[in-house]
Amino acid sequence: MRQKMQHFMMGRYGADQLGQVYLGISMVFLVISLFSRWDIFYVLALGMMGYEYYRMLSRKVEKRYQENQKFMNWRYGLAVKKNRRKELAQQRKIYHFYKCPSCRQKVRVPKGKGKICITCPKCKTEFIKKS
Ligand SMILES: [Zn+2]
Repeated sequence: MRQKMQHFMMGRYGADQLGQVYLGISMVFLVISLFSRWDIFYVLALGMMGYEYYRMLSRKVEKRYQENQKFMNWRYGLAVKKNRRKELAQQRKIYHFYKCPSCRQKVRVPKGKGKICITCPKCKTEFIKKS
């Protein structure tokens, strides 16, 4: 049986990260459909599951691989953005961010120093702000 299965899967794409997400979402839809009267979720769950099985059994390995790569890149981008937001939030606790009035350059100054004169690092414009 196992050998038969292995033979069957030969040359086919199989499971990947994108597939896990598809199956996960279809599970969520399935649960929603169980606890609600919205049949649409049941249909969506079946559709999504069907689509993922189609992907797993697909012989167009290259195409499926590209799909997964796209998804992984997108997820990586999200993680990077999230990190950046987190860092910025942490910096906002100790720094004030101002934009230079003449060139829009972002300038970071430490908080709690009273009125200070800021010199833009890019265009050397001076402007006064409360920090
Ligand atoms: Zn400037």
